[in-house]
Amino acid sequence: MSDFVLGIDLGTTYSCVAVMEQSDVRVLEQKGGYRTLPSVVAFNLDGSSMVGHIAKRQAVTNAENTVYAAKRLIGRNFSGPDVERAVKSVPYKVVQGPNRDPRIQIFKRNYSIPEISALILKQIKAIAEEALHAKIDKVVITVPAYFSDGQRQATKDAGFIAGLEVLRIVNEPTAAALAFGYKKKMNKKIAVYDLGGGTFDISILDISTDAFEVLATAGNTFLGGEDFDQRIIDFVAKSYESEYEISIQKDKMALQRLKDAAEAAKCQLSSLLETEINLPFLTTLNNESKHLRRTLHRVELEKLTGDLIDETIRICASALEMAALNVSQIDDVLLVGGMTRMPLVQQKVKEFFEKIPAKNVHPDEAVAIGAAILGATLMEEEAPVILLDVTPFSLGIRTAGGFSTILVQKNSTIPTEAGHIFTTVTDGQRSVKIQVLQGESKLATENTLLGEFTLTDIPVQKAGEPEIMVTFSIDSNGIVQASAKDLKTKKEQSIVVTSKSTLSDEEKDKLAAEYKDSTPNELVADVKT
Ligand code: AMP
Repeated sequence: MSDFVLGIDLGTTYSCVAVMEQSDVRVLEQKGGYRTLPSVVAFNLDGSSMVGHIAKRQAVTNAENTVYAAKRLIGRNFSGPDVERAVKSVPYKVVQGPNRDPRIQIFKRNYSIPEISALILKQIKAIAEEALHAKIDKVVITVPAYFSDGQRQATKDAGFIAGLEVLRIVNEPTAAALAFGYKKKMNKKIAVYDLGGGTFDISILDISTDAFEVLATAGNTFLGGEDFDQRIIDFVAKSYESEYEISIQKDKMALQRLKDAAEAAKCQLSSLLETEINLPFLTTLNNESKHLRRTLHRVELEKLTGDLIDETIRICASALEMAALNVSQIDDVLLVGGMTRMPLVQQKVKEFFEKIPAKNVHPDEAVAIGAAILGATLMEEEAPVILLDVTPFSLGIRTAGGFSTILVQKNSTIPTEAGHIFTTVTDGQRSVKIQVLQGESKLATENTLLGEFTLTDIPVQKAGEPEIMVTFSIDSNGIVQASAKDLKTKKEQSIVVTSKSTLSDEEKDKLAAEYKDSTPNELVADVKT
């Protein structure tokens, strides 16, 4: 095995991989010179899969068996509103899995979401091994800053299934800040505005020569390029449908073609004022082919999606407030994520922060580059860098009356540990159930239940007498551990809080074994060990 640590930006729509080689960071290219890989996995009837460009290319003719935007489902609970939204806009079938997790049903097999991400990671590993002529097993993977504990764990599980050792899960904006400021001898407060294919994050950082401290982070894991595409799809489909009285939305192949065309049009409108969506033979009506051809103007796109951008600006304002800074105290603004190429995004960010965004970060590559830098520093090939990130949500436990008592406030610096002493509410109570909650509401039911466990064998005492110390710790990956200790008996119970929707250890092991020898596509054999 080599000492290379891959920095992987596992994006909703595209992924990117970089590595540090003798103090230089390099984005690893695939055959054909591509520097990003579509995060798309397609399946064949025999169970074999394709990943990346070839998967994206065949999506139109195989829409139901082609999975994209799986990141929108990772680590989520099937019955949550976000999954419902995500499922509405995709042609593949999503069903409920054994842990109430979403699973993608293709040719009668139910794929867990970490498994889909693992296939992308395996492909990335293969690309890197080909480019570096070395075997790779260590990676740093980035996630949106606003990813919850469950989403982080599920991402780590994906790495495990792909046979990779995940040295660190790091937040995407933090990685971008590393790419911007590492070894640059600067002392600045910066804002990283990251609008990707599926998610939006804003992080405010204080960076100095060897320390990167996140002051605040905020975001929305359901706001990204896919939503912009959807607005175009709905707009164009509506006028087409009223003209021909044919539903595109029900025709999977037509819808996939329209989706590709909508994304392409959106990207073109970043440099052109108008573009044409031209889809001949899109549908048939009474054996007659119907074509879709219409011009889309940049102003139309801006009208259709302006509110999405306004929402990101509102989130920026709340992040600044949490960092207790005003706009004039921000020295630089970095734009990360493919969507920041949209002129209206750039304009609104510039207006809000009252400055022109920095030009020296690559929107598609900065995150992977930062992850590669972090990877190298973790292997101590490079001078260590102090990275202080924050937790995006508050963590608490359910207490009497159905309330949530917060132990770790959101935007606390991690790693962190916090403890609080609780007691019992009834006489002779022998056990307490600890429910770990994530979220800001005072009401337990309005927060996300991360996990629960029971502390038993509490000696018989009057209500209020036992002293139960509940401690939470969050590691540098943002993953939560909780423990409860009876201070009298010293009996302790602890769990790594596994969100209800992640895979069991057995299932992870089974999948890792299954995929161990599977060969990713588009591979050149010449790999040295
Ligand atoms: P990322 O997750 O950072 O790879 O961002 C991908 C998103 O950026 C997708 O929704 C792309 O359609 C979008 N994107 C890429 N290039 C452009 C462009 N030139 N203009 C607008 N959006 C773009």
